[in-house]
Amino acid sequence: MTDYDCIIAGAGVVGLAIARAVAATGRSVLIAEAADAYGTATSARNSEVIHAGIYYPAGSLKARLCVEGKTRLYAYCAERNVPARQVGKLIVATAPDQVARLAGIQAQARVNGVDDLVYLEGTEARTLEPALACEAALLSPATGIVDSHALMQSLLADAQAYGADLVVRTPVLAAEPSDEGWAVAMGGDEPITLSASWFINAAGLHAPALAARITGMPPQDVPQAFFCKGTYAALAGRAPFSRLIYPVPEAAGLGVHLTLDLAGQARFGPDTEWVSGEEYGLDAARLAGFEAAVRAYWPGLPTDALTPTYAGVRPKITGPGVPAADFVLQGPQVHGLTGLMNLFGIESPGLTSCLAIADEVLSRLEMTGEPPMSGIQSAGLA
Ligand SMILES: Cc1cc2nc3c(=O)[nH]c(=O)nc-3n(C[C@H](O)[C@H](O)[C@H](O)COP(=O)(O)OP(=O)(O)OC[C@H]3O[C@@H](n4cnc5c(N)ncnc54)[C@H](O)[C@@H]3O)c2cc1C
Repeated sequence: MTDYDCIIAGAGVVGLAIARAVAATGRSVLIAEAADAYGTATSARNSEVIHAGIYYPAGSLKARLCVEGKTRLYAYCAERNVPARQVGKLIVATAPDQVARLAGIQAQARVNGVDDLVYLEGTEARTLEPALACEAALLSPATGIVDSHALMQSLLADAQAYGADLVVRTPVLAAEPSDEGWAVAMGGDEPITLSASWFINAAGLHAPALAARITGMPPQDVPQAFFCKGTYAALAGRAPFSRLIYPVPEAAGLGVHLTLDLAGQARFGPDTEWVSGEEYGLDAARLAGFEAAVRAYWPGLPTDALTPTYAGVRPKITGPGVPAADFVLQGPQVHGLTGLMNLFGIESPGLTSCLAIADEVLSRLEMTGEPPMSGIQSAGLA
């Protein structure tokens, strides 16, 4: 008999959503988190946007899990009183040569099952947002915002109500197949090795490094990690916008956009900067690029109104100049190791997709071998 049915490395929004889904089936779950608290890495350093599922390649996991995840997330937030609001967003073409790209974005969205985008001439867009400068725009009514910390708190509370345990300051150091499934070695103040039938690597930026420390992992199945930092700037005062404003997307990210938090405060970002690891330092010099990017759609941006506020790092598995990879949910069909699931490249829209990712991970693991149940049953959340 194993110590747990399932051990999960990483308590970001994805690890927590998986813990909730697995624990809800009656399996015993341990979430091991390296940091001092859950949800302090990428899940706390993003735009907090509930994406509609517009841009991603047809048939990709990103497209499917974002579209499913968006619906699931709005319903979950309503049910659990997690602050979220469907504010809508405008994707704006600020130069004549960008207008044709809006049609391509709308066509891609339709293929992904997102058929509620509305094409607006510049004058129509300005009726909605008078401070906006643009040639034309797409309105996405389904896009929204969520309080990511409240979401993680709720996912953890659910998982714990189902019987899951969380330990912090407990990095997973390595894992190796054993007679019972997996022997998972954890460090921290009280290093320990525990056994589990399933081992799920949801370590975000460090998932490739952790996968390389799993005995038996084929080296060719461990992707190279690339780190793409995005800095955000806070605006002094209120922005005269009630919707999110996005430029036509760039190569490595969605461009310096305007997002609103649930209190209506605006922030701009993230830009793209390739870095060598988990680097969150702020550099005011980057704001020169911000002002130019923001003024393209908001000429009224006051001078010196932006201050660097925080940064996040995209957990990429493709480097500069290469198209973004799809989410990778890598199970035994790929690496041949029963009961192991690695999650790689869970960049945007990972927050939006977290509930759908969790169900996908659970069903893939259930298909590739049922672990024996430890006997701990659901605590009975609906
Ligand atoms: C700049 C930026 C903007 C974004 N904007 C959006 C957005 O608006 N909407 C959206 O849907 N998505 C967005 N995303 C993506 C979203 O934030 C991520 O997809 C999501 O947070 C990933 O969650 P995670 O749990 O996989 O990773 P993380 O939150 O990074 O969690 C991984 C956890 O694993 C822990 N860990 C690492 N190594 C180990 C180890 N060896 N043992 C134990 N624990 C370990 C870490 O400490 C961390 O807590 C954005 C991302 C970035 C970077």
